[in-house]
Amino acid sequence: MLRSVCLLACLSLEVFTVAGDSVSDQAKKLHFSSIVLDTHDDTTQNFFDKDFDLGKRNATGHVDIPRMREGGMNAIFFSIWIDGRIMGPLAIQKALDQIDAVRQNVKLHSKDMVLARTADDVRRAHEQGKIAALMGIEGGHMLGNDIRMVRIYSDLGVRYLTLSHFYNDEWADSSTDKPAHNGLTDYGKEIVREMNRTGMLVDISHVSDKTFYDALEVSKAPLIASHSSCRALCNHVRDMTDDMIKALAAKGGVIQINYEKSFIDQAYKNASDKLSGGVVALVDQLKKKCGDDEACIGKTMAEQEKQAIAEGKLPHVSWERIIDHIDHVVKLVGPDHVGLGSDFDGASMPEGMEDCSKLPKITEALLRKGYSEDDIRKILGGNTLRVMAAAEQVSRELNSGTN
Ligand SMILES: [Zn+2]
Repeated sequence: MLRSVCLLACLSLEVFTVAGDSVSDQAKKLHFSSIVLDTHDDTTQNFFDKDFDLGKRNATGHVDIPRMREGGMNAIFFSIWIDGRIMGPLAIQKALDQIDAVRQNVKLHSKDMVLARTADDVRRAHEQGKIAALMGIEGGHMLGNDIRMVRIYSDLGVRYLTLSHFYNDEWADSSTDKPAHNGLTDYGKEIVREMNRTGMLVDISHVSDKTFYDALEVSKAPLIASHSSCRALCNHVRDMTDDMIKALAAKGGVIQINYEKSFIDQAYKNASDKLSGGVVALVDQLKKKCGDDEACIGKTMAEQEKQAIAEGKLPHVSWERIIDHIDHVVKLVGPDHVGLGSDFDGASMPEGMEDCSKLPKITEALLRKGYSEDDIRKILGGNTLRVMAAAEQVSRELNSGTN
């Protein structure tokens, strides 16, 4: 969730020719027979909009069932997200509202979708031709500073928790806030251990570098970065340095690449910072106009962005930057540690990746780069399934007392 530099209907309407739009028969065959698992989608927010129907093709936004079918996206982590400054019991209440909304929507569309908790559940859904729906909580503030919520959320089907969002929470420092805890507090470390016990993945997107290294040391299961990109290619604190990616990979983890323009393209990030003073400053500025009205924030941001691109204040960004980030990770640590974490419905998409229907282009681009079909299947979803299975195994061992 970026709910900031971007949003919902923020499609660039300019006519802009993007290379590599055609998808070969080989790529289609590979793509549509693979598990294509996206670890971060803010579509959940749309469930509260009475005009939105997950089962119909919507004119705005990035994800719905028809476009998922068209793009071959057959496994999705719906993000449970609320503003990081909401803490305590209200944060729990609002998170539960969203968990319920996801579960109800999956039920409503049970012909196409099924709730999944494990890697095997995702595989089974794929065999049945259904879309696997999973949930991830984006920010430790939604625990209400109560470790028992890890178990409760896990029982409700939540399979990852991002340790912080844009702001520090009670026990973890964020990458976009002033350090307050020197990474993870002791209570934060205990929360990571409890996540290991429940098999819930530890997500280090959004956290400070120190929080990442603390979590890496404490967690018995591999970590994920559910929606982050590479800092070597775009110097943004939300992205991971090469050293962090190497450390993540050494313990079996996966970075799922975020498609947000200001995370993947340095020129765009520089221009965007110059215009708005960075992610958090931009959101604060929009909140002055819109209050907590997310729809207003999204619409205003999209309008501002469109105008800035038209005036030449923000550059065009091609979807091919996504491929650059995937390729960077592969060159750094091999093909087993990278996946897809688009941030659809929560970020500003590059041109040519306007919504999830465009995903087969990623498979085509990786084939053209000479990647093997096996490696492409891993990147599309296999690597994330491997980490889920590893976390499930750690949970079984911890609960049986053998670890
Ligand atoms: Zn996010």
